[in-house]
Amino acid sequence: MRLSRYFLPVLKETPAEAQIVSHRYMLRAGMIKQAQAGIYSWLPLGYKVLKRIEQIVHEEQQRAGHIAMLMPTLQSADLWRESGRYEDYGQEMLRIKDRHDRDMLYGPTNEELITDIFRSYVKSYKELPLTLYHVQWKFRDEVRPRFGVMRGREFLMKDGYNFDLTKEDALHAYNRHLVSYLRTYERMGLQAIPMRADGGPIGGDYTHEFLVLAETGESEVFYDSEITDLSFGDRQIDYDSVEQCHAVLEEFTSRYARTDETHEEALFAQVPEERRRTARGIEVGQIFYFGTKYSEAMGAVVQDQSGAQVPVHMGSHGIGVSRLLGAIIEASHDDKGIIWPEGVTPFHCGIVNLKQGDAEADAACEALYASLEALGLEPLYDDRNERAGGKFATMDLIGLPWRITVGPRGLKNGVVEVTSRRTGESEEMPPEQAVAKIAKIYGKAL
Ligand code: ATP
Ligand code: MG
Repeated sequence: MRLSRYFLPVLKETPAEAQIVSHRYMLRAGMIKQAQAGIYSWLPLGYKVLKRIEQIVHEEQQRAGHIAMLMPTLQSADLWRESGRYEDYGQEMLRIKDRHDRDMLYGPTNEELITDIFRSYVKSYKELPLTLYHVQWKFRDEVRPRFGVMRGREFLMKDGYNFDLTKEDALHAYNRHLVSYLRTYERMGLQAIPMRADGGPIGGDYTHEFLVLAETGESEVFYDSEITDLSFGDRQIDYDSVEQCHAVLEEFTSRYARTDETHEEALFAQVPEERRRTARGIEVGQIFYFGTKYSEAMGAVVQDQSGAQVPVHMGSHGIGVSRLLGAIIEASHDDKGIIWPEGVTPFHCGIVNLKQGDAEADAACEALYASLEALGLEPLYDDRNERAGGKFATMDLIGLPWRITVGPRGLKNGVVEVTSRRTGESEEMPPEQAVAKIAKIYGKAL
């Protein structure tokens, strides 16, 4: 993309309404625009990151054997009456009437709708296990929408639902989700710690929230500092293996780590004092096993091996896709702007032309741009007639992890400069080598 043809409405001033750094930078970098309280338009740069995050979520869900689909945002109130949640859900549910005076709602979550789909088609244990998921907009009429996309009213969520014959099978599905979530967050450059949580309106005894530690997080958390040494890395996991998935659950949840909802001082006191931590965290996901709560209420039964009709065991699993943009920025920024991890960056690298209009510099930038694109990478070329300082400030603010700077002086010596946004370190090298370096970082073969 050439910046002169892009739509990147960068703000110079810090918007007064933004209280936390991720919200400030998302507004300043022209990623989002508030449409109403807690409802945002995703401007091109923000939309690009949102799509990158969504793509990682899809890849990791499918790697775990989960099946993508799409359910509507508007749901019928009748289904929610069947589960009893239409009355229970309270003010957070946006209730709507259609022209025939029928009660509808904008889905805050999808247990009812998916259970209805399941009961319509699945009749036998032979069709299990089954895990379906989608990535769809949700609406929750939060009392205090704030912090930009972190606590929106309209937000994008991945929500998945497992259907299993037995509790044991459903707990395997739970563990499989835990593993897939660990991988998902790590690919986004995040450490998200599974913490014992509370079921809330979804219900259920088995539930973990995934928290990214950040001062601006809304949850208070208590944990054993040893847990922050764990990483999933690139280990290979057989998602069908009950033992392997369970071992990961054990490894990542055996140390004390809880949100304030489930915190127990007496248990926490058993952690050696020097390892006890109290901090704040951003909830970026949650997994639940809730047994037959919805299947019994809504008649989602299958025939088991003995011919008996039994309600299926279910769980639901959510990732806050749009909230993740805020969480990533909270975890990765400096005083100049965002620092995108390579896994989610909107453009793979920036190209800054120090002297637009200089025939040599222009030609070198064009050549770099073409070579990077030919490798399947997306560079953002700042080809505007602007001062170098302004170009650098924009690149720093929007946070592309790598920048190639091209100017007449370097070109005389046959070099361009490659700069890491994270470390600030620059290295001079011939343009072909710069392309090779960027290609290698993103795992592209030359
Ligand atoms: P919270 O406690 O933050 O209100 P929740 O526990 O009610 O969230 P879940 O039902 O677990 O939310 O939804 C799954 C994920 O969706 C959450 O882990 C979070 O990342 C995201 N999410 C929930 N509410 C919002 C919101 N208002 N804005 C943005 N993301 C949200
Ligand atoms: Mg939650």
